[in-house]
Amino acid sequence: MAGRGGGGRTDNIGRDNIGRDMDGQQDLRLTPQRRAVLEVLRAVHSHPTAAEVYDRVREVAPGIGAATVYRSLGLLVQAGQARELSLGNGTAARYDGNTSRHDHLVCDRCGRAVDIDLPSPVEMIVNELAHSTGFAITGYDLQLRGLCPSCRPGG
Ligand SMILES: [Zn+2]
Ligand SMILES: [Zn+2]
Repeated sequence: MAGRGGGGRTDNIGRDNIGRDMDGQQDLRLTPQRRAVLEVLRAVHSHPTAAEVYDRVREVAPGIGAATVYRSLGLLVQAGQARELSLGNGTAARYDGNTSRHDHLVCDRCGRAVDIDLPSPVEMIVNELAHSTGFAITGYDLQLRGLCPSCRPGG
């Protein structure tokens, strides 16, 4: 397996969802169900849990089963068309339809995940490390943790 992200607890990152960021996307036959799941994912920026995706998909594709939605999510992640965010602390994984490289700000209390739109300073370190270690660095995950405005005391 390729390298891991920026340290920290990585034990619940089961599959190599690190390392896919900069890879090309693989072909995945888009059945109508998978397309519906993908469209829901791309339409929202809230990094929904699988259960939330299921709720939304049901609105556009009534009759679709939870198992189908969950399986589609897994396949889309495997194919590089969606990202799975492991937020740790036993919280449910969240899904991201934005597969371009970006980092997240994560709330420790409610699990809300927000995209970081600033240029990543890590990019420089990655390039430097690749140069000095000879590693072909294929990706990294950066999560800044804290409390979101609704969870902050007095906020
Ligand atoms: Zn919060
Ligand atoms: Zn995101």
